[in-house]
Amino acid sequence: MTIVVQKYGGTSLSTTKRIKEVTERILEEKRKGNQVVVVVSAMGSSTDSLVEMSKDVSSHPDPREMDMLLSTGEQVTSSLVALALRDQGADALSLTGEQAGIHTEETFGDASISFIDTPKIKVHLDENKIVVVAGFQGVSEKGEICTLGRGGSDTTAASLAAELHADRCEIFTDVEGVFTADPRVVKEAKKIPELTYKQMQDLADMGAGVVHPRAVLYAYRNNVPLFVRSSFDQQEGTRIDHFREQTNVTGIAVEKDLTCVTIIGKEKTNLSEEASAMIKIIEAAGIAIRRALIIEDRYSFSFIIQSKELKQTYSLLQGRPWISKVSYENRAAVSIVFSHERLANVSNRLGRILMTKRDRADIIFHSPRVWRIIVPEYELALTAQLLHDAFIEKPNLSISL
Ligand code: ADP
Ligand code: ASP
Ligand code: MG
Repeated sequence: MTIVVQKYGGTSLSTTKRIKEVTERILEEKRKGNQVVVVVSAMGSSTDSLVEMSKDVSSHPDPREMDMLLSTGEQVTSSLVALALRDQGADALSLTGEQAGIHTEETFGDASISFIDTPKIKVHLDENKIVVVAGFQGVSEKGEICTLGRGGSDTTAASLAAELHADRCEIFTDVEGVFTADPRVVKEAKKIPELTYKQMQDLADMGAGVVHPRAVLYAYRNNVPLFVRSSFDQQEGTRIDHFREQTNVTGIAVEKDLTCVTIIGKEKTNLSEEASAMIKIIEAAGIAIRRALIIEDRYSFSFIIQSKELKQTYSLLQGRPWISKVSYENRAAVSIVFSHERLANVSNRLGRILMTKRDRADIIFHSPRVWRIIVPEYELALTAQLLHDAFIEKPNLSISL
C-alpha cells in the first residue's frame, strides 16, 4: 500500500478552525486509499512564545529543560489534529516523537535523528489508522526528549518518509511553493515548479526557511520526492526531485538575524594569532561562524554569527586580556544561488550592482554555486530586490556573466 507523509507547519495550524480545515485535506488523501502519516508543528508562533516565557523565568535557560518545554507545542497540535480527525469518523491517533520510534543523538536544541524504529508506526498504519506524529522531537538513548532545531518538523517528516519508504513527502505551508526569493521580501518572486535536491539544499542552507536543510538531505539520500505546497489552496506547489538543472540561477536566499562582532585588540597584540585562537574557542562551543574571520586592519577583526548566539559568544570573549573593545552590528545575508558553478566575473558584476546602495556590502565567495552578500539589516530587502532584478528577472545579465 502507498504511504504518504504530509507535514503541516505552524501557520497551517494556527487556530482550531485551521486545524479542522487541515483535517479535510488529510481525509482526502486517506480516501484515495493511501496510508497517511501526518507530521505537525506547534500552533502558529507558539514555539516563539514558549521561548519568550523561558526567558521571563530564567536568565540562562537550561538546554534540557528547554527541550522539555518546546516539545510540548507539537504534542498539543498532534492530539488536536487526531481529535478533529476522529470527530470526522476517521480512525486516527497521535504519537509523540518517542512513541513514533524517533531516536536522536543527545544534543539538546539541535539533535539529529539517529534511527527510526518504524514498526512503532507501521503497526498502526496496518490497522488502517491515520498516524499523527508530533514533529521536531525524538528521544535519546538515555530517554531524554531532544528537539531537532528550529523548523525541525520538516526533518521529522522527510526522515519518516524515507524510513517508511513513502511514495512522497508533502510539506504544507503558508506559501504556494518555493519561490525565486522569499515572497515576503521580494514581491516579484516567482514560484519554481521543479527543483533538484541540490538546488533546494543550497537555498535552504543560505536561509530560505521554507524547508529545513536537513529535511532536503534525508529526502535526497533516500530518493523521496518532496513537495512544498500551500495548505490554503489546491495549487500544485514545487516538486523537489532528481531533475536536470535547467536554469542559470536558482534564486536569492536571505538570512536575517545575524550579528557582526568586531574586536579591537590592544596595541602590540599579535592579532592574527589571537583571532584564530579565539575563533577556534567559539567554534568549539558549538557556535557556527556565518562568515570567515576578516582582519580589518592591524588592530581589529570581525566575524559574523547568528544573533541568538551573541550572549554565549560575549561570555567567551570576557576576560581576554588582549581585547580592548568589542562592538556589535545587526547584519543580514543575501545569497545568489546558481544552478551551475559560476565563477567568472561575478564579483565585478556584483560590485557594480551593489554600488547603487547607500551602505557598504561585503561580497563573499561562498562556494562555486553561491555568492553571499553581507549587508546592514535595514538594507536586506533592497539588496534582495536588486539582486533578484539583476539575476532573475533580467536573465540575459546573468547569462553573460
Ligand atoms: P511553516 O510554519 O509552514 O513551517 P515557515 O515559516 O517555516 O512555515 O516557512 C514558510 C516561509 O518561508 C514563508 O512564509 C516564506 O516567508 C519563507 N521563505 C523563505 N524563502 C522562501 C522561498 N524561497 N520560497 C518560499 N518561501 C520562502
Ligand atoms: N515548532 C518548531 C519551530 O517553531 C518546529 C517547526 O515548526 O518545525 O521551530
Ligand atoms: Mg518551517
